[in-house]
Amino acid sequence: MLRATNIDSLSRETFDVLVLGAGINGAVAASALAAKGARVALIDRGDFAGFTSQESSNLAWGGIKYMESFEFPLVRKLCKSRNLLLRSYPSAVQEIRFYTAHERGFRHGLFKLFLGTWLYWIIGSFFTKIPRLLSRRAMAREEPIIHLDGCDGGFEYSDAYLVDNDARFVWGFVRAALDHGARAANYVESLGARREGDAWLTRARDVVSGEELTIRSRVLVNACGPFVDAHNGLTGQRTSHRHIFSKGIHLIVARLTPSRRVLTFFADDGRLFFVIPMGPRTCIGTTDTRVEGPHAAVTPEDRRFVLSNINKRLDLPRPLREADIIAERCGVRPLAVEDGGGGEDWLQLSRKHAIEVNRAQAHVSIFGGKLTDCINVGDEICAAVQELGVALPRPAQRWYGEPGEEVRQEFFRRARLLDLDALTPQSSSEELSARLWRRYGAQALELLEEIRSDRRMADALVEGAEDVRCEIAYAARREMVVKLEDLLRRRTKIALLVRRDELARSPGLREASRILFGDDADRRLEEYFQDHGARQPAEGIPVLNKPPPAPSRRQADPT
Ligand SMILES: Cc1cc2nc3c(=O)[nH]c(=O)nc-3n(C[C@H](O)[C@H](O)[C@H](O)COP(=O)(O)OP(=O)(O)OC[C@H]3O[C@@H](n4cnc5c(N)ncnc54)[C@H](O)[C@@H]3O)c2cc1C
Repeated sequence: MLRATNIDSLSRETFDVLVLGAGINGAVAASALAAKGARVALIDRGDFAGFTSQESSNLAWGGIKYMESFEFPLVRKLCKSRNLLLRSYPSAVQEIRFYTAHERGFRHGLFKLFLGTWLYWIIGSFFTKIPRLLSRRAMAREEPIIHLDGCDGGFEYSDAYLVDNDARFVWGFVRAALDHGARAANYVESLGARREGDAWLTRARDVVSGEELTIRSRVLVNACGPFVDAHNGLTGQRTSHRHIFSKGIHLIVARLTPSRRVLTFFADDGRLFFVIPMGPRTCIGTTDTRVEGPHAAVTPEDRRFVLSNINKRLDLPRPLREADIIAERCGVRPLAVEDGGGGEDWLQLSRKHAIEVNRAQAHVSIFGGKLTDCINVGDEICAAVQELGVALPRPAQRWYGEPGEEVRQEFFRRARLLDLDALTPQSSSEELSARLWRRYGAQALELLEEIRSDRRMADALVEGAEDVRCEIAYAARREMVVKLEDLLRRRTKIALLVRRDELARSPGLREASRILFGDDADRRLEEYFQDHGARQPAEGIPVLNKPPPAPSRRQADPT
């Protein structure tokens, strides 16, 4: 309903700004502009956050890697961005310890790296907990699954992570943009745009109905992520930046350790390599492979690389095998390079974003970027759009962050009165009040009311996942779910936590589909499983039949 109304408005209204692409860059651009009073439209040819922004490591990272190349101003900038996220999203972005094992003979000694973490902590304004040097004995006690042969100890430092995953974080910005009056629609593709007088006319197609529409705006913001260059080709934009691509994968397996830490290792290729908590599961990754285009898939070699690295570094009851993989993630990082660039040391390429403005044509392109830096991107887009002559009636309006303390206290007061946490499903890794507040903010009060009138609304719906019934009903009403995958992969992380064959048998999923799609539920289920055929588990234990790539001399970007 909301989507249909918005699509109707897209073709009838004239907008100050049309933002193309609703990954993190497009979502923050739309959210910041709408909050400051611009008339904003936002479209994505897939679902919100349906491309790169659903494939990250979910880390808000201060750039510890750049310490190695002495890029301290960059580290300072990224630490400030991380700290801002931690301050603004105290429940959705949380500090987490990185528990790092150090192998003897590594290119930097243990004590030197430990000093580096201190410097990192100082550059990060002492915002996080203090780093700690770890003896082998302490490591054996605290994280017995780490294989300590060859290690001379370790260290622990802090960065931050997105508790509910990247795609949900992006959705929060889309929701905020909608709340500020933006017209946003998923599954609407731009087919190109032309300038007529002082306006852009963008030809778009509703991917669901096949209908075409024209969207009129004064400014066009190209936030198409890995497809920025392709779309600039359609509008005749010449830019001094372009993208090159780096593929990264993650494998999700059953929870490996009960602690809420990121276990950190240096993989065979010299990169930092993480074992990251993901609710009741563990996410392992990532890799960094140069690829030619935006579309990439996990290959058998990728799986072997990740599994063999992790099996070497963890003492598990038995090695992890392909059959243990519950779900996979694979994305390409769009890396911004200046014209003629890209030939330099691959691992040294910085992950900075670049914003290019074509003043004559009121066109803005966003290259590169990270989830960590998203608030800066939103602010920079507002500045660029203002420069292009669009007045922002509320320039000082704060456009990001969780609701204020008063709302929070009111929610938790009402949750206590309802004894909400006593209803937390047994399978849940956290209390229901914490979950609902983090995921819905002020709207969580609405969910409380539903639970008050029917306690079954607090039951977990899909076995193995943590989402409760009223969340699915809320998604159906307010979260623009077009396909079942939008719910399972992005509004929630059910598809990452539960194997597809288990999902296919789940009565809870059938009910969820009914809540979302009513009489069309069975067809939507069928469509989902057709699009997501089960991955064949490999036979036996994978063997590394090719020597791993030679260790790089410098540290690559861990995310
Ligand atoms: C493996 C991996 C790990 C990472 N880890 C981290 C991390 O831990 N921390 C961090 O900060 N960053 C991380 N990153 C980087 C971060 O995920 C990306 O920089 C970010 O998600 C890119 O967002 P984006 O909005 O530019 O692109 P996208 O998310 O790809 O969004 C672009 C959108 O444009 C849409 N689009 C394209 N063409 C059209 C069209 N013609 N019409 C309409 N819409 C269109 C697409 O459908 C897409 O949804 C990681 C990246 C990868 C790949």
